[in-house]
Amino acid sequence: MTRVPTTNWAASFHYGFRDCLYPTSVEAVCEIVARSPKIKTVGSGHSFNAIADGEVGLSLSELPINPIIEGDGTQVSIGGHCTYGELALFLHRHHLAVHNLASLPHISIAGAIATATHGSGNRNGNLATAVSGLEMVSGDGRLIKVARGHADFLALVVHLGALGVITRVTLDVQPEFQVAQSVYEGLAWDKLLANLDEIMAAGYSVSVFTQWRQHAGSIWVKRTASADEWPAAIHGATRATVNRHPISGLDSQNCTEQLGQYGRWSDRLPHFKMGFTPSSGEEIQSEFHVSKEYGATAIEALLSIREKFAHLVQAAEFRTVAADELWLSPQYHRDTLSIHFTWIRDQEAVNAAVEHIEQKLSRFTALPHWGKVFTGRHIRAKYERLPEFAQLRDRMDPQRTFSNPWLEDVIFGTSEN
Ligand SMILES: Cc1cc2nc3c(=O)[nH]c(=O)nc-3n(C[C@H](O)[C@H](O)[C@H](O)COP(=O)(O)OP(=O)(O)OC[C@H]3O[C@@H](n4cnc5c(N)ncnc54)[C@H](O)[C@@H]3O)c2cc1C
Repeated sequence: MTRVPTTNWAASFHYGFRDCLYPTSVEAVCEIVARSPKIKTVGSGHSFNAIADGEVGLSLSELPINPIIEGDGTQVSIGGHCTYGELALFLHRHHLAVHNLASLPHISIAGAIATATHGSGNRNGNLATAVSGLEMVSGDGRLIKVARGHADFLALVVHLGALGVITRVTLDVQPEFQVAQSVYEGLAWDKLLANLDEIMAAGYSVSVFTQWRQHAGSIWVKRTASADEWPAAIHGATRATVNRHPISGLDSQNCTEQLGQYGRWSDRLPHFKMGFTPSSGEEIQSEFHVSKEYGATAIEALLSIREKFAHLVQAAEFRTVAADELWLSPQYHRDTLSIHFTWIRDQEAVNAAVEHIEQKLSRFTALPHWGKVFTGRHIRAKYERLPEFAQLRDRMDPQRTFSNPWLEDVIFGTSEN
């Protein structure tokens, strides 16, 4: 019996798929694409909007992931549908690592790079920046291979599911490294705003969790191997002595270890453990990226309207992401501070809150996370390479096999014509 995906992971979005195809070889993927008027590749279904929606789904889950170490151990190529958790298991066996991970390891690589999914760290680019090569099936059913340096490469990586079916991804890897994390609680808003840069530089990867209440919240510091003692406090926030969950009040057993002991990069960089349900499950997410230099001012601006949205927040998170060259990356040519919201699962109320937030952040050129909830208003004007991306789509997918209403409406603006 064919499994047809009905909702996203959080059950906050209902897909319109009437069928889903499960090819068992790349040749079969090529044939399906060549003969199908419309097809939408299904990743791990973690996005919160209609980006992954379609009439006929294509899942690569029956394809082998077949990981291969390349370039004398500096790169790994693997099936695009592989999750970061599965990738990490393979890398462990070879004492290798990727530079960073998102908050959860459950997402597919091709789906994560599609939306410029990211972790945190002043010097860490989003996960798409580790891609050095792609194998993909274009709209005419041809398998094409593109490597870093190719004229289209910087456009193809953050692909929004618009350009083809990604069958394999090659990623830069590095020798494995150890990470430890500690949580610092009781951070005050004035300390956060006055010392944001210093706080975000306190480790290899730093997150500040808040619920937009009286206190700002907690600082989650992830450090790579260091001989330094953990400080007892960071700007007035004191070190926790038990593990915490980002959503205060929830049990921390699904969370990665936080008490300062070093462990594998992949067991510390995500907030949530593989094999457990991440986050709360009953949620919707939004996220807005602003230039890092305006980070504190942007947070302050949101504080001034927090009565419009704070009651809907389960947890919010500030992270930093380094600049890159990828055309549709929100970090294109700028370091960002990312302002993330895990909302309660009330779509209508969240939509209204997001309107307020977007309005307040508009003067900071806030760019939304492609896989989360946003209005999409004025977005096209903010991506200078979008007209060229549209031309590339004309070449890669002239028949619009990979199109869906979300792409036409939000990205290409064709539904306005
Ligand atoms: C609990 C939770 C925690 C999260 N944490 C983070 C976080 O820490 N940082 C962050 O940045 N984001 C985070 N996200 C968002 C998530 O990383 C993105 O939505 C990501 O795109 C999900 O990947 P996916 O495989 O589920 O993609 P999907 O939602 O399945 O698909 C996304 C897009 O990719 C396309 N696609 C998928 N696979 C392929 C393929 N093989 N070929 C071509 N196109 C493909 C789809 O068609 C669609 O257009 C989180 C989401 C959840 C639910």
